[in-house]
Amino acid sequence: MSLELPADKSIVILGGGTAGWISANAMIDSWADKGLDITLVESPDIGTVGVGEGSTPRLKIFFDRIGVAESEWMPRCKATYKNGISFVNWSTRPGFERYFHPFATNIDKHTATAFYFNTHARRQGVDVHAHPDRFFLSAKLAENRQGPKPNENFPFFVEYGYHFDAHLVGEFLKERAKARGVKHVQAKVLEVKQTPAGDIASLLTDQEELIEGDFFVDCSGFRGTLIQQTLQVPFLSFAENLFNDSAVVLPTEQEAKIGAQTVSTAMKYGWAWEIPLTHRIGNGYVYSSSFCSSDDAETELRATLGLLGSGVEARHLKMKVGRVETHWHKNCLAVGLSQGFIEPLEATALNLVCNTVYDFIDTLEAADFSDEGREGFNDRVNMGFEKVRDYIVAHYIMNSRDDTDYWRQNGENRHVSDRLQKILQIWKEGKSLSQEMEQQQIPSSYTATSWCCLLAGYGFYPDIRPVPVDHPASRKVDMSEIDDFIRRCSLNFRSHNEQLCF
Ligand SMILES: Cc1cc2nc3c(=O)[nH]c(=O)nc-3n(C[C@H](O)[C@H](O)[C@H](O)COP(=O)(O)OP(=O)(O)OC[C@H]3O[C@@H](n4cnc5c(N)ncnc54)[C@H](O)[C@@H]3O)c2cc1C
Repeated sequence: MSLELPADKSIVILGGGTAGWISANAMIDSWADKGLDITLVESPDIGTVGVGEGSTPRLKIFFDRIGVAESEWMPRCKATYKNGISFVNWSTRPGFERYFHPFATNIDKHTATAFYFNTHARRQGVDVHAHPDRFFLSAKLAENRQGPKPNENFPFFVEYGYHFDAHLVGEFLKERAKARGVKHVQAKVLEVKQTPAGDIASLLTDQEELIEGDFFVDCSGFRGTLIQQTLQVPFLSFAENLFNDSAVVLPTEQEAKIGAQTVSTAMKYGWAWEIPLTHRIGNGYVYSSSFCSSDDAETELRATLGLLGSGVEARHLKMKVGRVETHWHKNCLAVGLSQGFIEPLEATALNLVCNTVYDFIDTLEAADFSDEGREGFNDRVNMGFEKVRDYIVAHYIMNSRDDTDYWRQNGENRHVSDRLQKILQIWKEGKSLSQEMEQQQIPSSYTATSWCCLLAGYGFYPDIRPVPVDHPASRKVDMSEIDDFIRRCSLNFRSHNEQLCF
C-alpha cells in the first residue's frame, strides 16, 4: 500500500465511544508534529454502549502516556481505585466460596514464594493453607476499603486499575482531543464509499457531507460498520467457549465507605458485577439468553440488590462475543467493540483497545504500511484476544456449581484451547506453573501468579492425604508471619475515601 507516514494525510475515526476517543487522543499525541489531520465522526442518535466501568492497570499507562494526572480526570469521571476483583460463589468447594484476584505487583515477591510453596504442597495432597487471599497485600487493602496508593514512607508501588463512569471518560477525552486539534463531526454515516481497489474512500453523512480520508479507524461499536459491514472481514464467534451474550444493568446508591474492588458474584445463569464509583454503584448481570430470559435475569438481579418493585430503570444490552479475523484490513483499523469483545469478567476491553491503538502506532513508526508490518500486527492483536479468552474460559470450565444447566454445561464444555488444556494439566500434575509455562512457551496475558490465584482460589486441589513428615512438601510456612507482614504493610495506606480527595 502506498500510504506513508509522516505526511499530510487524513485519518477519519468513525465512532465517539471510549474506543474512538482513546484512539483520537493516542493518535493526535503521537503524530501531532507530522501534520496529520484527524476527524472523528459520531452519531448522537446512535449513542454509545455506555457501560464498561472497570479497568486493568493498562488504563493508568494510557493516562500517564498522554500526560493526564489522576487529579485531573478522576474527579470529573467519578472514578475510584480498583485493587482487584473478588470472585464470589464461583466455586462450591468448602473454604473456597470466594477469592480475590490481585493485579501482579512488585511487593508480592515477598509473599508469593510462600504462596507457590503452599499451593504446590496442597497439590501433593498436603494439608496446608493454600487459599490465595492471605498472601496478597491488595486483597487486604480491598477488604479494608483502603486505596492502593501508599504513604510516602512506604517505597513500593502497588498496581491498580480504576472504576469510572464510561460516559464521562468519553466526554473528558473528547474535550482533550478537540483542544489538541481533532475535528469533531456529529452526524450519522449513511453510506461508506469505496475505491475501485476496495479501500475506503469516504463516509457520506445524513447531513450530506462527504468525509474523505486516507486511513479510517472503525470505532463504530458492535456494528463494525467499516471493518465488518463494508470490508466484509469475517467475525469469529467465541460462543462455543463463552455462553454469555446479554447483560442487564441497574445502579444502586453508593455506601459511605467506598469499596476499592470489583465484586463479581456468580448467579444462576451468569454472574453479576458490582463496581463502586464515587456517586453510585454500577451493577450488571451478564448472562446467557439460551438459558434465561431478559425478564428473569432482571428479576434475579433486582432480588439480589433489594430492588424488587423499585422504580429504578434497568438497561438491557446484547453482546457479540468474539473477534474479527484481521483488525487492520486495507486502509482500515478496527478498535473497540467493532474489532471484538470478550465478556467483561476481567474488565479487559479497554486494555485491548489501548494495546491495539499503540501497537498500530508503533508498527507504523517502525514498518510504515508494509504488508509484513500489518500481518505481524494482526497476529499480535489476535493472540492478545485468544490469551484473554483462555483465562476467562477457565473460570467457567472449572466451576463446581450444580444448581442450573448453565453451570453444568459450562463445567462440561470441552471447547478449550490447547494452551488452556496445557496450563490445567501442569497444575494437576503438581508442576511449577511459571517454569512450565516458560519452558513449554505457553503464551498468556496473565502471569503465573494470576493463574495460581484462579486455580487455588477455586480450591482446585486433590483430596488431602497423609504424607510422611520428611516429605519435602510438608515443611510448614508460618502463616502468622505472612499475616503480620501483610498487616504491617497495609498500615501505610489511607482509606479509599481519603485517597479520593484530590
Ligand atoms: C455489558 C458490558 C460490560 C462491559 N464492561 C466493561 C468493563 O468493565 N471494562 C472494560 O474495559 N470494558 C467493558 N465493556 C466494553 C466497553 O464498554 C467497550 O469496550 C468500550 O465502551 C468501547 O466501546 P466502543 O467505543 O467500541 O463502542 P460504542 O460505545 O458502542 O461506541 C460506538 C460509537 O460509534 C458511533 N456510530 C456507530 N455507527 C455510526 C454511524 N453509522 N454513524 C455515526 N456514528 C456511528 C456511535 O454513535 C458511538 O459513538 C463492557 C461492555 C459491555 C457490553
